Amino acid sequence: MEWSDRGVILRHGLFHEADMWVRILFRERGLATAFAFGAAKSKVRFCGCLDTFNTIDVRLKTSSRNNYINMLEASLIESPANLRTNWRSMGLGFNCLRFMEAADIDADAAPECFSLAENLRRWLEREKTPDPMAARFFRISLARLLGYAPNLNRCARCGCHPNGEAFFHAEEGRLYCGGCNPGDRRGSVALSPVALANLRALSSVEPADWTGFSLTGPDRRACSRLIDNFIEYHLGLKWDNGFFRRS
Ligand SMILES: [Zn+2]
Repeated sequence: MEWSDRGVILRHGLFHEADMWVRILFRERGLATAFAFGAAKSKVRFCGCLDTFNTIDVRLKTSSRNNYINMLEASLIESPANLRTNWRSMGLGFNCLRFMEAADIDADAAPECFSLAENLRRWLEREKTPDPMAARFFRISLARLLGYAPNLNRCARCGCHPNGEAFFHAEEGRLYCGGCNPGDRRGSVALSPVALANLRALSSVEPADWTGFSLTGPDRRACSRLIDNFIEYHLGLKWDNGFFRRS
C-alpha cells in the first residue's frame, strides 16, 4: 500500500552502506520508522533532506507483509537555519525528541504532537540561550497532548483554589491545599504560590511563550521534581544516562 504524509525527523542512522533508517513523527500516522534504501547516494529521491528536525513530505510504501515501511521519496518543507550550529540548543532539542520517541504517539494524538515538534524547532531557532528547563516544559506539554494533565487548579479534598503553599501528589496526579495535605507520600512535592502559579500558566502554553518563564532556586527545583515525578508515574518514563527508559 502506498501513502503520503508529512513528518518531522526525530532520529536517523545508516545501515549497510547506502541505506538509512529514519524515525519520524508523522502528522497523520504518529511515530514510525521508515527505511530509505539508497538514501546516502540518491540525491534525486531524497534531496539530501533526511536530517534531524527537518519537516519533510514523504511518499511511502508499506511492504506486502506489512512488516516495514519503505520510503520512496522525500522533499524538504522546513529545516532549521541556525539551530545546528548552537550545541546548547541542539542538546536541548535532542532531549525533547528522545522523549517524543519514547512516548506512545498514535494517530489520534499525532497532528497536535507534530505541531508541538515544529513549534519546538522554531522556538529553539529563535532562542540564543534557551533555558534547560524547557526540556521539562516540553515533557509536560507532550503529556498534556497525550491526555495526561496534572490537576493544578483545585484542592482534591476541599475543592478550594489554593493560594498559599500547596502539595502535589504525583502518583494521584492531584493537588492538596495546606489544610488538606495528606502528608508525605512517595512522589509528593511542596509548591510555593510562585511555583504553583508558574505551573498553572505553563499548563496551557506553547513553546513560543516559554521564554516568559523564569523559575529560580527552590521553585525551580520543586517544578522540576513535580514534572519528573508526574512523567514517571503517568507515562512510565524516566531520563537515565542519555535515554528515556520505562520505569
Ligand atoms: Zn483543601
